[in-house]
Amino acid sequence: THDIHIVGGGLAGSEAAWQLAEAGVRVRLSEMRGSGERTPAHQTDDLAELVCSNSFRSDDAEANAVGLLHQEMRGLGSLILREADKHRVPAGSALAVDRDGYSAGVTAALADHPNVTLVRERIDTLPDGPTILATGPLTAASLAEAIGAATGKESLAFFDALAPIVHRDSIDMDVAWFASRWDKGETKDYINCPMTKDEYLAFHTGLVEGEKTPFKDWEKDTPYFEGCMPIEVMAERGVDTLRYGPMKPVGLDDPRTGRWPYAVVQLRQDNAQGTLWNIVGFQTKLRHSEQVRLFRTIPGLQNAEFARLGGLHRNTFIRSPELLDPTLRLKSRPNIRFAGQITGCEGYIESAAIGLLAGRFAAAELRGETLPPPPVETALGALLGHITGGAEAETYQPMNVNFGLFPPIPGRTKKADRKRMYTDRGRAALAEWLNSPPPPAPAPQREDS
Ligand code: FAD
Repeated sequence: THDIHIVGGGLAGSEAAWQLAEAGVRVRLSEMRGSGERTPAHQTDDLAELVCSNSFRSDDAEANAVGLLHQEMRGLGSLILREADKHRVPAGSALAVDRDGYSAGVTAALADHPNVTLVRERIDTLPDGPTILATGPLTAASLAEAIGAATGKESLAFFDALAPIVHRDSIDMDVAWFASRWDKGETKDYINCPMTKDEYLAFHTGLVEGEKTPFKDWEKDTPYFEGCMPIEVMAERGVDTLRYGPMKPVGLDDPRTGRWPYAVVQLRQDNAQGTLWNIVGFQTKLRHSEQVRLFRTIPGLQNAEFARLGGLHRNTFIRSPELLDPTLRLKSRPNIRFAGQITGCEGYIESAAIGLLAGRFAAAELRGETLPPPPVETALGALLGHITGGAEAETYQPMNVNFGLFPPIPGRTKKADRKRMYTDRGRAALAEWLNSPPPPAPAPQREDS
């Protein structure tokens, strides 16, 4: 017997299980690895396995949004952070771990917990009782189909197509300008970066010759050509293909010349606060270092700070901003919560963080309480807010935690001071959230009322 069923023992499912078990809730944790099943990326049967790098990125809680997230999770009794800290290996200011010791530690903590029943089984349908689905970017096909049926097929993606995202305050607006195509002065929805012919030709060469990240074997049958072709693939088709595609200058008068430039790079607002802007049509397999170098040759983006770089991967995720409520429940089937990368967060630690919140929300609900989401000034709250409503649903793509998801610090401040202001404000907001007692859950509505 169990009070809640968690499907998937990865980063998110393991953390959710721990939070619930520690709150006294009996958990059934179903993990298909160990039952003869594997994802194409996992190598072991251990819980919370790190499929690639052994790093949880920056551990600097003063000047880094990821570091702040670590600190908040430690404060909330995270199992993933506890085991990461225990198995830490030297990596400067980053939190890197001995991957085997770390995941063996997570596995033992859950397998030995009296409130956890760990079952090695694949789940193919959506359970009827209280459930957390945390099956990750490589969710088994049968369950993915069931999720697609419950959410609407077009709301479930099997690949991401990540265009780079730039912090608005790093764009040089003396060079770039706001306008929509054929703008008559009313709608100025895009930030436009002008290019001369020489700049365009050099940029085109950079795209074609730049070093790319190869697809993994199991990603080779990528259906990305359907509408999110990598920019370099488009560039390879001909020198002018981009000028007739995403870099079309038509109808965009550069206010400094009064004329259309030779080519234009457009950025579109990416979050509700307007702090993050994506480069339209620039999904790419170029290596990250190559992207930074090449995209900073775009006039106006010479000092660009990237909140996310471009990419294309196999990845299962739902259109969370329209499907989930603020506590990660599927609006159409509130017994189901989603957690981890399948919600559209990106990264080990972000996945674990959303697992932590899903676990806490579910524990409160089972106690008859409603836990309010953490404030948006915290790293947990900023990430959750992006997933459950801050992001544009139509163009929703996976995202790491970063300061661009936080409400901006008002006024002008030095960059170094600003980071400190974000983290100080976050710590104060988390303390307040932890100290406020949760209100009881609203009484169930009578059906005839
Ligand atoms: P997972 O950790 O994948 O856990 C999901 C679990 O569900 C798995 O154990 C799986 O076996 C199980 N499962 C799936 N379907 C079923 C089913 N039907 N029934 C039962 N169990 C099921 N992030 C980083 O921060 N750094 C990196 O270097 C990095 N590299 C990555 C490399 C690859 C190839 C991939 C695919 C992702 C990478 N990520 C990386 C992104 C991501 O953060 C991780 O994938 C992370 O593990 C996601 O956590 P999760 O809990 O959502 O999913």
